[in-house]
Amino acid sequence: MERTARTFTKQREISLKPPCCGTVALDLKSYMMLDRRQAKARFTNYSFQTTQEDQVKTFNIATIPADGIGPEVIEAGVAVLDALAARDGGFSFNFQSFDWGSDYYKAHGRMMPEDGLDRLKGQDAIFFGAVGAPDVPDHITLWGLRLPICQGFDQYANVRPTRILPGISAPLRDRGPGDLDWVIVRENSEGEYAGHGGRAHRGLPEEVATETAIFTRVGVTRIMRYAFSLARARPRRLLTVVTKSNAQRHGMVMWDEIAAEVAAEFPDVTWDKMLVDAMTVRMTLDPSSLDTIVATNLHADILSDLAGALAGSLGVAPTANIDPEGRFPSMFEPIHGSAFDITGKGIANPVATFWTACQMLEHLGQDAPAQRLMKAIEDVCAAGIMTPDVGGTATTREVTNAVIESIRGSNR
Ligand code: ATP
Repeated sequence: MERTARTFTKQREISLKPPCCGTVALDLKSYMMLDRRQAKARFTNYSFQTTQEDQVKTFNIATIPADGIGPEVIEAGVAVLDALAARDGGFSFNFQSFDWGSDYYKAHGRMMPEDGLDRLKGQDAIFFGAVGAPDVPDHITLWGLRLPICQGFDQYANVRPTRILPGISAPLRDRGPGDLDWVIVRENSEGEYAGHGGRAHRGLPEEVATETAIFTRVGVTRIMRYAFSLARARPRRLLTVVTKSNAQRHGMVMWDEIAAEVAAEFPDVTWDKMLVDAMTVRMTLDPSSLDTIVATNLHADILSDLAGALAGSLGVAPTANIDPEGRFPSMFEPIHGSAFDITGKGIANPVATFWTACQMLEHLGQDAPAQRLMKAIEDVCAAGIMTPDVGGTATTREVTNAVIESIRGSNR
């Protein structure tokens, strides 16, 4: 991949940019303190200085629009990304669409083909819509498509930025843009969603089902390192570790211990620990006391829905499933689901998809276009061009066109 052809200069300060969340500025000494594998991945993952032939490049992006409003928001996202590429002139996209999802399941008995991961492997990134249908059980849709991609590609860091965007009225009294600016890091490869467990004596009175959460030292250490690095990259250098070690005495206690161990590697990051139940209260009553948050697969799943709602709507909340080691393509998607209640009405909010496109651009080393897109999103929201879920009257197409117009008119 061209990404590996990039060069860097050892003497200068190195900037690492985790997806859409801030810049990690490291001097060489701090850089050398990073775990070797992490350091190697970062050299291949992020650009520091590009060679001449890198200046115009094509990114191969797999799109998986899937179910419900997924195709509507991905179509909008592709249009916006193409407009950005045309505006920039330094890169382009080669989108390849995959028709996997619930309709594919009804026709083929599986959510994606057996060699699905092989077909995605060579792509630079995956741009994912939404999965889930009223007539297919959720565990089939989730375990048949999204989770195999996340787990098969070891996308162990799920990164969810949340902010109140200008123009969007959030449900918290007297809170606006600037009062809530979080990044939730969700452990994405194990924990409660490891798929460990089973059922016996099905249908009988003595039926039993187990669902075992798996926490490994490797899994917890790597997500803590990622979260501390990300916290260090943000101006406040503040991390909250979410736990439930008062009630769960094994996995969660190890989680806490490893958090403390990793914290010692990041003396410049202030961190604290919160029980997940108390965390919901703090998010609601004292949102500005939080910045970067790390939590297990299940806890972060729940907390990030709360975060999306507190920021105004699920329709604006993005997420990135990152393989920080750069071995596989990472996957970018809106947090919301398929939302069949509004499917086909042309009113799906495309902002979450645009925002995750910013995360994808940063992951691909395209920081300036990412900032241009984020600015366009904010300007369009501030101008009141919004879909009904955030109090506006605009359609998906009108919001998309406004963002494209803003990109075309921007002079940054
Ligand atoms: P799933 O079961 O696939 O997770 P869902 O339809 O149960 O999806 P979500 O999609 O997570 O639930 O969202 C809940 C509701 O929020 C939707 O029914 C819809 O009304 C609203 N919503 C979600 N995303 C958007 C969006 N992008 N634009 C507008 N409204 C949205």
